[in-house]
Amino acid sequence: MTIHDRRLGRRAVLQNGTLFLATAAVMPAVALGAKPADPLKIGVITDLHYADKPAAGTRYYRETLSKLEAAALQFEQDEPRFVVELGDLIDAADSVQTEQRYLSTIDREFSQICKDRHYVLGNHCVETLKKDEFLGGVGQEKSYYSFDRGGYHFIVLDSCFRSDGEPYGRHNSVWTDANVPPAELEWLAADLKACSDPVIVFAHQRLDVSNSHGVRNGAEVRRVLEASGNVLAVFQGHSHRNDVTEIAGIHYCTLVAMVEGSGADNNGYSVISLDSSGAIAVDGFCKQADYRWKS
Ligand SMILES: [Zn+2]
Repeated sequence: MTIHDRRLGRRAVLQNGTLFLATAAVMPAVALGAKPADPLKIGVITDLHYADKPAAGTRYYRETLSKLEAAALQFEQDEPRFVVELGDLIDAADSVQTEQRYLSTIDREFSQICKDRHYVLGNHCVETLKKDEFLGGVGQEKSYYSFDRGGYHFIVLDSCFRSDGEPYGRHNSVWTDANVPPAELEWLAADLKACSDPVIVFAHQRLDVSNSHGVRNGAEVRRVLEASGNVLAVFQGHSHRNDVTEIAGIHYCTLVAMVEGSGADNNGYSVISLDSSGAIAVDGFCKQADYRWKS
């Protein structure tokens, strides 16, 4: 359908291989314009920790393949505009080569869900692999960046840096020393300044707590987010459990880990819907909680 057809209130209909342009007269719903615009839907998963190794404690590494399949079936119904994984897509192997195999196995499944995919780096993603090896493996150019979809601005953050500025990789990190370094903070402030649309942020390590699951300079990051006045919510993973806080009008929503527990019920994934008024709905599946926030 061309812009011209849209202006005429026409809708292109493909019937038995023939393209018809239906006028508003035979499609009253279009003519009335009563139907509000569909919300922008996002499919979200986090902390899959996929690895071809036996379970350890509550983490069932191999089972995330079938759990991801369940999420994929749900996303097929909901047809999200894009999908995001909030980090820790893979778990550690004893060699770089084996870990790359874990990554290609899980990403082969994930990449079938949707063409528009976004990867947040988790500490486990770059425990053995270096950042460029992980990003190269999933075909993503940068570890932090922003993009626009449907009137919203989205930001992917990377907190996998030590406090001395060194990026995580090849066993050089301490998982409790996660930081957003000055160069990324500067980029974030400039990116937010240039944007007037409502903003949603995706992160792995938590920006709302100061315990071991929190980003060390989380308060500094929050100040940058708050200064923009446009940030509605931050979605994050890392601590593997449902949690939500509100700080200075921004929702910080922590989503459950897919890797936790055995069996189909011990799963978690969500579909986030954003409507044009700025209202947010999080529809959680299995262990994932639901949330509704008005604009
Ligand atoms: Zn994790």
